[in-house]
Amino acid sequence: MKPNGNRAPLDRHLIVPFFIPHMGCPHQCVFCNQRTITGKSAQTPTAEALHTEVKRFLKHAKKRYASIQISFFGGNFLGLSPDTIKALLNAAVPFVRRGEVDSLRFSTRPDTITPQALAAIADDPVSTVELGVQSMHDSVLKAAARGHRAMDTVRAAALIKARGYQLGLQMMVGLPGDNDAGAIATAHALAALKPDFVRIYPTLVLAGSPLAELFRCGRYHPMALDACVTLVKQLFLIFKAQRIPVVRMGLQASDGLADPASLLAGPYHPAFGHLVYSEIVLDAIQGVLAHGQDPPRNLSIVTHPRMVSRVQGLNKRNLRHLQAAYHLEEIVITQDARFAPNQIRVGSQTLYLDA
Ligand code: SF4
Repeated sequence: MKPNGNRAPLDRHLIVPFFIPHMGCPHQCVFCNQRTITGKSAQTPTAEALHTEVKRFLKHAKKRYASIQISFFGGNFLGLSPDTIKALLNAAVPFVRRGEVDSLRFSTRPDTITPQALAAIADDPVSTVELGVQSMHDSVLKAAARGHRAMDTVRAAALIKARGYQLGLQMMVGLPGDNDAGAIATAHALAALKPDFVRIYPTLVLAGSPLAELFRCGRYHPMALDACVTLVKQLFLIFKAQRIPVVRMGLQASDGLADPASLLAGPYHPAFGHLVYSEIVLDAIQGVLAHGQDPPRNLSIVTHPRMVSRVQGLNKRNLRHLQAAYHLEEIVITQDARFAPNQIRVGSQTLYLDA
């Protein structure tokens, strides 16, 4: 693995988000209560509200980001009525025409992607389409009441790519009827579709979702946080090996999820991605120590300043683990800004990490 330099990751680009919770969706997936996830009630923004919000974002963020997109998340965009789709796009397009925003994006279900649906938006400056895939196992999709099959995703991905859109795929772990091997197989299947980026979400038990009922009567057991982090780490590394960016792991810390009345159970952590990256770094350090001749009593680690918190782990749990497991008296971490952001030297061994 080579140094990744200082190139900004994909998700550094500014996204002006418009949540359209559950809108355009005739389904009720067992895990979904989009109103909880987005913290908003179900309504599409008016043109006036969209203009106001985009202008607010532009005023504060215009000069700090390489590119800007307006996005429609949280519902099933292409499942909206044609009039609503056009109204939303027509409200957003002038920002692109004036050069204030680069392009538009939306998330939608795989079974809404048809040649006709894509033809209807062909003249709009949409650059990115994200699919809520969740799993590539029909049995898991059925248990989650998704209402589509894995083949719908394969077809949709091909149509999206054939039209030249950037393709994003979202998958979930911990769904009813799924397991680690199933999630890993899903990751491989998604990587084979050659998406431009993916997101990985743990299944959470949200109040008001059908899963909440299954959880209450003991028919669904959410993943433990540690096991979920380890699984998502494996998935991240699968995508990374194929050079597919993983732009998010875990749900965003939103007001809805911070409220214990909304989040009933499940592997939620506001710094979920950090936990995954920290575990990757811990594995790498342990790999060096495990293969060394004599574990040192004092361990020297040199790394780029941006990597330090991942070396330490959340609340320094990596350091505590290393000290206990390898009987280290002291771990000295030195920051070196000349290192690549993913470079780390453990003792005398230099590594370039995927974290
Ligand atoms: S497809 Fe499922 S997850 Fe998406 S909005 Fe509809 S019910 Fe929710």
